[in-house]
Amino acid sequence: MDLHDSPEEAAFRDEVREFLAANLPAEPGKAWSAKLRDAGLASITWPVEYGGRGAPWNHQAIVLEEFARSGAPSHANPIALGMAGPTILAHGTEDHKRRYLPKILSAEEIWCQGFSEPGSGSDLASVRTRIEPHDGHFVVNGQKVWSTLAHLADLCILLGRSDPATTRQEGLTYVILDMHAPGVEVRPLRQITGEAEFNEIFFTDVVVPGENLLGEIGGGWRVAMTTLLHERGTLGISLAGILDNQVQRLVALVAERAGADPLVRDRVALEWIELQALKLTNYRSLATLMKTGIPGPEGSISKLHWSEQNQRVTKLAMEILGGKDDGYWGYQQLRSRGNTIEAGTSEILRSIVAERVLGLPRSR
Ligand SMILES: Cc1cc2nc3c(=O)[nH]c(=O)nc-3n(C[C@H](O)[C@H](O)[C@H](O)COP(=O)(O)OP(=O)(O)OC[C@H]3O[C@@H](n4cnc5c(N)ncnc54)[C@H](O)[C@@H]3O)c2cc1C
Repeated sequence: MDLHDSPEEAAFRDEVREFLAANLPAEPGKAWSAKLRDAGLASITWPVEYGGRGAPWNHQAIVLEEFARSGAPSHANPIALGMAGPTILAHGTEDHKRRYLPKILSAEEIWCQGFSEPGSGSDLASVRTRIEPHDGHFVVNGQKVWSTLAHLADLCILLGRSDPATTRQEGLTYVILDMHAPGVEVRPLRQITGEAEFNEIFFTDVVVPGENLLGEIGGGWRVAMTTLLHERGTLGISLAGILDNQVQRLVALVAERAGADPLVRDRVALEWIELQALKLTNYRSLATLMKTGIPGPEGSISKLHWSEQNQRVTKLAMEILGGKDDGYWGYQQLRSRGNTIEAGTSEILRSIVAERVLGLPRSR
């Protein structure tokens, strides 16, 4: 793979840079998201008829790189753009696509993901929330937890059990749930950073119309796997961009406070080298994505590498600061703790790499 921009990629990169130069600084939120939609930059690989550009994945990578480089605020609908939308594109009906995708891009409707439960995280196939099929509708009862953005969400991609006689993948069903429906209660959870980004969701006899089914009754596992592959799909490229900024900040901090210390210099150089390795891994995943259109298990390598490196970088910065929070690194260190848990814990990702990338025998 040629790692330099082709003339066509360079022209597109210029277009993105010009847009950002003309529109920054921007406030995060729905107005910024709508502007991205109008510029055709919200989710450029989606088909034109649903508000995308039908652009190839290398263009998506350029958008992610340039947004990270410029520090532009993210779109307000990350779960919808990264997970719900691609899942609807893969498994939804034409009505689903026309009904949901345009409002994802404009952020008119915000989405959350209802997968994890108090007793089911890594072992997602054990979820117990009931999605009971009735004549023409479903009734949902149960509890989800750690649902990012649920306190702001209008819609939820929900995985639950339609057949209580089964305990694993077979009896699962996947629906789109209206977060404003009677019987939905959201309780925010306070994190170590002081923020409350994620929530518990309680469902009591929530009625979901039959047309909100994605895939088939009992076929929810296959749909959920699409969601999870996309969760880690192009994430790596955006994460590498964010980490690039983080390493640059670290280098500036080291230059200012500890530039002469050979041990610190050694550690910061190592982090820079690790960052280059992450970027190359991402380009390898991108090459697979360009060929197949489906994110491969290599995305797990990027997420694992990034989350563990980001923790090391923030730890080194705090050591250089003598443990005193300068208002930036303290927050970064606390927030980085959750990164090795969300979107698959480090242990689970190592197992995926061992089994699906290296082809080692299954552990269970
Ligand atoms: C910031 C953040 C945001 C999140 N947002 C969402 C969201 O929007 N929607 C959602 O549904 N969920 C969300 N989650 C939940 C996340 O997906 C789960 O926390 C994660 O899957 C781990 O599940 P768990 O917390 O139940 O831990 P467990 O699965 O109970 O794991 C506990 C420990 O055991 C280890 N472990 C478990 N199984 C194995 C195994 N087979 N082999 C080796 N080790 C193992 C794990 O690695 C971990 O160290 C979020 C989590 C965080 C931190």
